[in-house]
Amino acid sequence: MYDFKAFAAELRSSDCDVITDAPMREHTTFRAGGSAPVIVMPKTLEALQKTAEKIRKNGLGFIVIGNGSNILVKDSGIDKIVIKTTSLNNEINVDGDKISCTAGTSLAKLCMAAYENSLSGLEFAYGIPGTVGGAVYMNAGAYGGEIKDVLCASYHISPGCSIEKFSGEKLMLSYRKSFYSLNDGYIIIKGEFKLARGNKEEIKAKMDDFISRRKDKQPLEYPSAGSTFKRPEGHFAGALIEQCGLKGFSVGGAEVSEKHAGFIINKNNGSAADILALIDYVKKTVKEKTGVDLEPEVKIIP
Ligand SMILES: Cc1cc2nc3c(=O)[nH]c(=O)nc-3n(C[C@H](O)[C@H](O)[C@H](O)COP(=O)(O)OP(=O)(O)OC[C@H]3O[C@@H](n4cnc5c(N)ncnc54)[C@H](O)[C@@H]3O)c2cc1C
Repeated sequence: MYDFKAFAAELRSSDCDVITDAPMREHTTFRAGGSAPVIVMPKTLEALQKTAEKIRKNGLGFIVIGNGSNILVKDSGIDKIVIKTTSLNNEINVDGDKISCTAGTSLAKLCMAAYENSLSGLEFAYGIPGTVGGAVYMNAGAYGGEIKDVLCASYHISPGCSIEKFSGEKLMLSYRKSFYSLNDGYIIIKGEFKLARGNKEEIKAKMDDFISRRKDKQPLEYPSAGSTFKRPEGHFAGALIEQCGLKGFSVGGAEVSEKHAGFIINKNNGSAADILALIDYVKKTVKEKTGVDLEPEVKIIP
């Protein structure tokens, strides 16, 4: 058994906050799941790079999280170091029609900065409750837009601990996929976006419209990870689930939302096992009744 506590003490410094025996329910929007031995939250990119080097020197596994809005940690917990990016100095730089920021910056903050500078293209992302790192990893998208449309470069720490810049085809962006979701061991540290000059009022009106559509359609009052399943080719996951009569179906504290069947919500303090059992039941039922395979969009860890 590795001595994570001693390692955590080594990581703790003025530039890194460290939590040991950390309940992941407090770091994920699903509000479920077991613990991680160590969560390290670097405050600077230098501290993040040093952390990555130490983890690798010790031969330890790690996962990176942003806001934890697209992950479900099993009740057995994580046997790896968790690097959380939200404490990074979230500087946003605007240079003409380009805007860049560190990976832990929330999409909401980035979108507001784009709006304040009359830059259009990121409105779709306002209301996605993640960080830039998580959005690049997932190629997040909504209302006809996706990160692929606006991301011009991404910087990461490679498995060899060097800082690299990827752009264009190297990013391998497609529906909810990226180079990073297809290759383990990379830490996204910064995103650079190319936007278009726009009209400030129109940008704000679009952002407000998307937020109000979310409030109308999505069960934002309950913990979830957003749409539980990817959109199957030619269908909508929510419509298929509703068609199978599963709205409101529950396992333990997990429920298929009455408001939007595409969302599994943690309605009543459910465990990760409840959520996973419900995901399996929904998949099985939809396959039997419609012949369509649903694939979870939420990342199940481990
Ligand atoms: C209410 C609600 C609504 C949502 N609506 C949408 C929507 O409209 N569209 C959409 O696409 N998604 C949506 N989501 C899902 C989620 O918000 C997005 O996928 C978001 O981009 C995840 O960002 P995050 O920072 O929370 O990532 P996390 O959940 O923390 O991580 C997601 C994945 O990215 C990896 N990762 C995160 N940061 C890094 C990094 N710096 N380097 C390397 N890997 C990293 C993690 O290891 C993990 O595999 C919604 C979620 C909720 C709860």
